[in-house]
Amino acid sequence: SLRTVASPWTLGPLHLANRVVMGSMHTGLEVHDDGGAGMAAFYRERAAGGAACIITGGIAVNDEARGGPDFAVFGVGGADERFRTAVDAVHEEGSTILAQLFHAGRYALAAGMVDRHGEPQRVVAPTALPWAAARGVVPTALTAAEVERTIEDFAAAARSARDIGFDGVEIMASEGYLINQFQSPLTNLRDDEWGGDAVRRRRFTIEVVRAVRTAVPGLAVTIRLSGADLMPGSSTDDDVDALVHDLLPLGLDGISVGIGWHESRTPTVQAAVPHGAWLDYAARIAGVVRASSYPDVRVIASNRMTDLRDGETVLAGGTIDAVALARPFLADPALVNRSLAGRFALVNTCIGCNQACLDRSIIGASVSCLVNPRAAREVAFPARPTTDPKRVDVVGGGPAGLAAAVDAARRGHRVTVWEAADRLGGQFGLAALVPGKEDYAATVRAASAELDERGATVHLGRPATAADLAGSDVVVLAAGVVPRDVDVPGSDLPHVLSYERALREGVPVGTVAIIGGGGIGVDTAAFLTESPDEAVRATEFAARWDLDVSGALVGDVPQRLPAAARTIRPGSDVTVLRRSGKFGQGVGLTSRWVAIGRLRDAGVHMVGGVQEYLRIEPGALWIRDEHGEERAIPADSVVVCAGQERAIDTDGDVPGGLVTGLQAAGVPFAVVGGARDARSVDAVRATSEALEAVRRL
Ligand code: SF4
Repeated sequence: SLRTVASPWTLGPLHLANRVVMGSMHTGLEVHDDGGAGMAAFYRERAAGGAACIITGGIAVNDEARGGPDFAVFGVGGADERFRTAVDAVHEEGSTILAQLFHAGRYALAAGMVDRHGEPQRVVAPTALPWAAARGVVPTALTAAEVERTIEDFAAAARSARDIGFDGVEIMASEGYLINQFQSPLTNLRDDEWGGDAVRRRRFTIEVVRAVRTAVPGLAVTIRLSGADLMPGSSTDDDVDALVHDLLPLGLDGISVGIGWHESRTPTVQAAVPHGAWLDYAARIAGVVRASSYPDVRVIASNRMTDLRDGETVLAGGTIDAVALARPFLADPALVNRSLAGRFALVNTCIGCNQACLDRSIIGASVSCLVNPRAAREVAFPARPTTDPKRVDVVGGGPAGLAAAVDAARRGHRVTVWEAADRLGGQFGLAALVPGKEDYAATVRAASAELDERGATVHLGRPATAADLAGSDVVVLAAGVVPRDVDVPGSDLPHVLSYERALREGVPVGTVAIIGGGGIGVDTAAFLTESPDEAVRATEFAARWDLDVSGALVGDVPQRLPAAARTIRPGSDVTVLRRSGKFGQGVGLTSRWVAIGRLRDAGVHMVGGVQEYLRIEPGALWIRDEHGEERAIPADSVVVCAGQERAIDTDGDVPGGLVTGLQAAGVPFAVVGGARDARSVDAVRATSEALEAVRRL
């Protein structure tokens, strides 16, 4: 049971119903010109779903603090009115909300951005050092007077938050943003009262906390602190502990522990990061707090936690006061209530893909969620039940089909899912077999549970026919994709496998050549070289990144699909081949470098620029390499990852085909996801299209 998670607690003046905080996420809704309706709907659903306390996305404390054009500043462009609407919504649901006070410092993505006066956006930092993704924008070093003014801006923003009705503020001091930049010897090369040694580098953080605390004596004040920067040469554990010691007497109500900088080369939030990898940093800070003269200051742990059963493990020890989850609230707004009611099978678990959230927010695009395409679009797709229930048939039980089916069933339509395979899941069922992607199985588990609860009919091993669908009010064709064959002499030999077969059945021990180095080729290589056991991977992760971390949590394990029979590790000898483009092309911005890095670490050979696949023989794949030379790649097995094609023809010109039949019967239908365009299968697009299709009813 979630006894500790469910227990009430106090955070400064706030009485909170349970130990779950919704962590800060930048959605871009903060600047929508909608009077705050979008933000209010987004937060309202999460408050109603049981989050005891919500932290807003970062709110810039002044113009130059904005991380990009879609960051709000109090007092600018109707921001206060929008936040008031959001705060009221959260309060109506009986929850609480803190404003995150944010300053991007040198992380501002300012290329092409202008301030409110139409001037080029100013980017400031402790020292004029750009970061790698700054696209040529060199920040201006703040003068001492500007540092003082920035501190006052934090205090002023806190007062605005109070006037708007927020219950408190969280000072953003981690992840490499301005306050964190002041703390680090990497980014603070000053030699004045704000830098020069560790004590002076801490001063900015201390003065911001002091000013904010003084500005809003009646509000909860917390700080998001970097448990470890994960940047070689940055602040040490001792520096962090010293900072905590300096901050505790200032009247902070809580410390939320973050991890890593955005530019860190250590993966922190990707699916490949073991569950709970970072909790030891929060535990260490909690130890410092408990041993101090201020033992009641709350410590909140976060990162790579997707399941509240893990939250219970973390909290039951008694050192940590609460857990903050962010992305899991995008995936399932009702995460807390469902978990507290013991209905874990229904929880739509965040799969850590980053594809619709982080990958979008870092380029300033609107944020949503792959497994919950309604996320941050609650106004466009309201949750209210339909007044006109219809018969909805969904062809295909992959991620897109399930997204359509669940949404229709939730709204009260009569739903039938037709899946040709003997199990639901489609491409997600395969992805779940890849080490580090086991949570993809949870999407299938949650959808099945919800469809079952809502009385939907699911046919497995039963491709739909036009006759089956003749009485339907609307059909969503989400039949997905199947692996594409390659036209290479020898591709019919028994040692040539599709990626689907390789993932489901395993690959014999020996050399393996993978034709195709896109997302699936990279996944297949990981499958062949990494342990299916997360505990083993956690140990390897800690060793690889020289971390003292335990990875003690288990994630959504009870619902996972069984691991594939075998992989060929250890002693694997795998070559991934690609004609053109980057390896891992199509994998999201924040995950690709991690995926490729893992393959390099595992000794996977990557051969790009292949001009031609010549022939497959027993023991070898012959290619014409980038220099035009014929070359044999050792291959006891060849796995084909050469893209996909539509599982059924959806063009409508095939006599006897499903589409032709639906057209003849006059049944309205929509084709979505891979069934519509198999070339660039994009799961975010697929689930989004599925939702849109089923909402056009
Ligand atoms: Fe989680 Fe992926 Fe949804 Fe982001 S898009 S919240 S990582 S499931």
